[in-house]
Amino acid sequence: MDGELISVGTEILLGNITNTNTAFLSEMCARLGINLYYHTVVGDNEERLKETLKRACGRSQVVLVTGGLGPTEDDITKETAAVVLGCKLVEDVHTKKRIEAFFKKHSKFQDGKKIPENNWKQAMVPKGAKVIDNQNGTAPGLILEEDGTVLILLPGPPNEMKPMFEESVYPYLHKNQPEIIYSQMVKICGIGESQVEEKIKDLLRKQKNPTIAPYAKTGEVHLRITAKAKDEKEAKKMCKPIVRELKGRFGKNIYTTEENKTLEEAVVELLASQNLTLATAESCTGGMLAARIVNVPGASRILKEGFVTYSDRAKRKRLLVKKGTLAREGAVSGKTAKEMAKGGCFVSGADVCISITGIAGPDGGSKEKPVGTVFMACCYQGEVNIKEFHFSGSRSKIRECTTVSALVLLRDTLLQNFKKK
Ligand code: ATP
Ligand code: MG
Repeated sequence: MDGELISVGTEILLGNITNTNTAFLSEMCARLGINLYYHTVVGDNEERLKETLKRACGRSQVVLVTGGLGPTEDDITKETAAVVLGCKLVEDVHTKKRIEAFFKKHSKFQDGKKIPENNWKQAMVPKGAKVIDNQNGTAPGLILEEDGTVLILLPGPPNEMKPMFEESVYPYLHKNQPEIIYSQMVKICGIGESQVEEKIKDLLRKQKNPTIAPYAKTGEVHLRITAKAKDEKEAKKMCKPIVRELKGRFGKNIYTTEENKTLEEAVVELLASQNLTLATAESCTGGMLAARIVNVPGASRILKEGFVTYSDRAKRKRLLVKKGTLAREGAVSGKTAKEMAKGGCFVSGADVCISITGIAGPDGGSKEKPVGTVFMACCYQGEVNIKEFHFSGSRSKIRECTTVSALVLLRDTLLQNFKKK
């Protein structure tokens, strides 16, 4: 099935909001095996929206539209779609009741306050449309089937659109796919996107079915292997040799083949599996590493303490970094990182401590230590693994890259030591 996405909203064209709906839906389409050929952004303008919808319905079997389903004057998606498909708008009794219930639930409309008149507009739907309930808002989603094309209208706010897509649209599209789509994820850390692509150039070149789609995340590369087949069993069988091949090529850089597992989850599991406890000692990331660890449910099993030691004094006082080390080598140095990690283990009593010290910028860089210079150390059983990095980009980008790299260093240190045992 060929598909395309349309985002409606002048604020997207103006750059006032980032088009996250498109990123989300693109990934979902890839998972469904829909060949996406176009992304279009169109403003809240009836003529241009009409033209966009006509063109899309003329060339794609699935057209997903987000935005412009609200109650206000500039929300015109549903009305314009009805004109393009030549159908009337009719009142949907079920949606009307749902809107009423939605407003009743929200306290400010209790006590006899009237529901704003323009909200009833949202109970009007194109005749014959399948209605998708919205648990987080008033606008329903709509599925319109017409001459071999399905046109699906979804609200713009991501907190409304995403659950509707996951709960209703995904299963609907999945059922309509003539072939079964199965996809398997391979998540890689510790090597960059271009290196990953270089290593699988031959596989990417000859790929047809299954396909391998690389996605670069900060500090990670995800490879999605997707097979189309007559049933799931066959599709799984087709993915298997590719996964095996990737495991051979990337080895321990693969941290999971599970769709929803995050790097921090993999690290927490690794620590928990060996009954090890962790402390973090952070300077330039200011707790970002600890926060990612705490994102994992059950992190309390392994995380003992998170130090945020931003000043030299804090590094000395909390982590017992030597005054002389700070004076001679500076706060951003391998030696300081090492003492932070050792001190973190000693003070907290944790088995493992990972430390971070660096220059996130935009100021504070020098010729010897430019912005983006980061030292990390991981202390485990008295041994310390130290690493130096040079990141680039904005302050937040540097801090984000640093956090991921710390997770990778922590994982590497643990794996190395488990191997030794
Ligand atoms: P509402 O009832 O809020 O008006 P709507 O379906 O009419 O919903 P829009 O008016 O187009 O949707 O957008 C409402 C808000 O939803 C936007 O201000 C923006 O915050 C968010 N939004 C819309 N489209 C996108 C998008 N493509 N990506 C991310 N956020 C979006
Ligand atoms: Mg709106």
